[in-house]
Amino acid sequence: MAREQLTVRGIVQGVGFRPFAYRLADELALSGWIRNDGDGVTLELQGGRAQLDGFASRLLAEKPPLARIDQVLRQPRPEREEDAGFAILDSAAGGNRAAIGADSCVCDACLAELFDPADRRYRYPFINCTDCGPRYTLVNRLPYDRAQTSMAVFPQCPACLAEYRDPRHRRFHAEPNACAHCGPRLSLRDAAGLVAGDAIAETLKRLRRGEIVAIKGLGGYHLACDARDAGAVARLRQRKAREEKPLAVMAANAVSLAGLAEPDELSLRLLNSAQRPIALLPKTAACDKALAGVAPDVAWLGAMLPYTPLHYLLFHEAAGRPAGAGWLKQPQPLLLVMTSANLRGEPLITADEDARALLPVLADAVLEHNRDIVTRCDDSVLRMGCHGHAQFLRRGRGYTPCAIGLSRGGPSVLALGAQQKNTLCLTRGNEAFLSQHIGDLDRVANCQALEAAVAHLQTLLATRPECVAHDLHPDYFSSRLARELAERWGLPALAVQHHHAHIAAILAEQQCDDAVLGLALDGAGLGDDGAAWGGELLLVDGAHSQRLAHLAPLPLPGGDRAAREPWRMAAAALHGWGADEEIAHRFPREAAAPQLARWLANGKPMAATTSLGRQFDAAAALLGVAARTSFEAQAAMRLEGLAERHGLPDKPPRLHRIDEEQTLDLSPLLRRLADGMAPAEGAALFHACLIEALADWAAQAARRHGLRRVACGGGCLQNAILARGLHAALGRRGLSMLQARRAPWARPGWRKDIFIPKEPAMCLAIPARVTEVLEPDQARVELGGVHKIISTALVDAARVGDYLIVHVGFAIGRLDPAEAERTLALLAEMGAMPDNPAAYR
Ligand SMILES: [Zn+2]
Ligand SMILES: [Zn+2]
Repeated sequence: MAREQLTVRGIVQGVGFRPFAYRLADELALSGWIRNDGDGVTLELQGGRAQLDGFASRLLAEKPPLARIDQVLRQPRPEREEDAGFAILDSAAGGNRAAIGADSCVCDACLAELFDPADRRYRYPFINCTDCGPRYTLVNRLPYDRAQTSMAVFPQCPACLAEYRDPRHRRFHAEPNACAHCGPRLSLRDAAGLVAGDAIAETLKRLRRGEIVAIKGLGGYHLACDARDAGAVARLRQRKAREEKPLAVMAANAVSLAGLAEPDELSLRLLNSAQRPIALLPKTAACDKALAGVAPDVAWLGAMLPYTPLHYLLFHEAAGRPAGAGWLKQPQPLLLVMTSANLRGEPLITADEDARALLPVLADAVLEHNRDIVTRCDDSVLRMGCHGHAQFLRRGRGYTPCAIGLSRGGPSVLALGAQQKNTLCLTRGNEAFLSQHIGDLDRVANCQALEAAVAHLQTLLATRPECVAHDLHPDYFSSRLARELAERWGLPALAVQHHHAHIAAILAEQQCDDAVLGLALDGAGLGDDGAAWGGELLLVDGAHSQRLAHLAPLPLPGGDRAAREPWRMAAAALHGWGADEEIAHRFPREAAAPQLARWLANGKPMAATTSLGRQFDAAAALLGVAARTSFEAQAAMRLEGLAERHGLPDKPPRLHRIDEEQTLDLSPLLRRLADGMAPAEGAALFHACLIEALADWAAQAARRHGLRRVACGGGCLQNAILARGLHAALGRRGLSMLQARRAPWARPGWRKDIFIPKEPAMCLAIPARVTEVLEPDQARVELGGVHKIISTALVDAARVGDYLIVHVGFAIGRLDPAEAERTLALLAEMGAMPDNPAAYR
């Protein structure tokens, strides 16, 4: 007999951890207790030595899907007589340092009940358990308890309460637990008032008629319409004044997307993950015809699967209310456009009265319910990047407020982000907490949302910052707010240059403490010299950043207007090679073109920019792809879409210059595009040459400074061709690329049966030789003399002797043997083989 205390840190509250521990202790005949405390959970266990060891290892291996264990501390304790059985004790008071879980999609067990006509929660839209359902969007403050959530106003009925109190039940302390008798209710409303009848059936009827319905989700309202009804989509666009931006769709399951998009295996996993993000999938040629107006001009379709029981009920209704869950595996024709319900650029609508205000101008009906959304949270948007990493385009529901681990602790910093696409960050010890996406701060409502998010995150984390960081740009709302807060709280305020911040964020996230080369490829950010930067080579060493080189500047005619009017950047480029007289001729519809041409020719003083985003604009306008745009980066997205379909040339010509100041000049490339090239061919050439130019440029600087790693950041990296291409092109030059991901695969609910360790500090894919094939989807591989078992679920049948590219425990591709040997030799030569390959599971 022995006794020990276990302290467990991570996401272990509100995720079914205590009943799980209870069942495990019971099974292993261990006595003792478990209790939530401010930092996580504490257990005391008594029993056989082997059982105690078994408990500790199974705790990690079998933890509930939404739990994340960061640390388990085992300490011996003196044996005791009095324990009989295993008890769940009341929560201990103390600090609020426990992590709170993110919202999660409804689980399979709940879905089975939802569609079982004999179950007491048959078709109940708010079914949930400790393995699933809302968390972050529901909670006011910690500890995570029903009384601190918007479920506080719904006392549980006896049947629900019995589940909630039974440690063996999967609804034990499921804080949002409810049923049709005691929980929240749905209602459908239109301009005339409440709609009688079944809310789900009525909603579907209206969607099928081509109406637009506002539907309450987890972190806010969506505007929904039938994605296959071109008229409804056009009406939605016109009402939302979102003329060209791509819209996301929701399908009942991934097989329903067949023929519309071609997700690879990793994208499928993303789509099916418990976080249920919008995943950007490559479109098929048939997509635009089937879903007219949904995602015109771009190469991808943003798709997500249902995540609330309410979403599922709509698809269930459309399928004719089949009994059982079998229909969930079959293709379903219903496809819904689901776009954030907000007024142009304003925050996502969360309150029922704000949704009702959309009637009848924006929405024809509102499907609402009386469970309040406490915290606004937009859908997350991700795409698969290179080497099997998901890249965030927007981080929100499902991921917020999960922390990003830092390599070390330090004073708490509140960082307020930039003016566009604002997000804030608060650090606590060695964790960084990113807020949900706030939006552009040129709207009063978004500025208010930022202030509210600052307060909410501090309350939730029980943390006071010791320093406030902000963008170097003094006039951003976020910079002004930061200075104001710092003054109010008597704290130092720290201005950080925009692109230094981009690169430093990557280093923090990747826990990289070394100096690296930073390649910042962006729209625009204020530089140290007061100019608009955005194509910069930096030497970044923690808090220090030095600008090594930049793109050759282009005049920025019209300042900020140039970002919406790519023809202005084309004019700047034409001026660069003395073709001023072409400007008015090329852009006959632009009334300002002749005047601008004269100004440029006469050398009128103008701001200049080194932004790569503006070079994309110039390229798009010179190719006749976009003279004006209706949203940021639209021109670049169109170029990307054209290039993706056309395919990049294998051996692009060298169309760039690097001078002795290390300035990278892309004007030869732009000039080639201006020379009457077809748009698709030109778009492909632009991407291919740009990738080689940037890689050459970075490689020269890396050699000079003895660096091997290039951290690539900034908005332009959202372009998948550029990100993918740079990764390969830098690799060919012996450099490794660090990128922002903010999405480690090791997320709760990702895949329960595989234990995925913490990621290595850099994006290193190591070739490993298969020595034994194991069942199922597993193989033993040899890697630097060490044998590991990896998952081969993502590659076709692996055979002994094959070389696989292994990343964080997954084989993500194959290499031919000769190439593998070369890569291994190169890695060894670079000293980039892991010191301890055993760490690379
Ligand atoms: Zn569930
Ligand atoms: Zn109930």
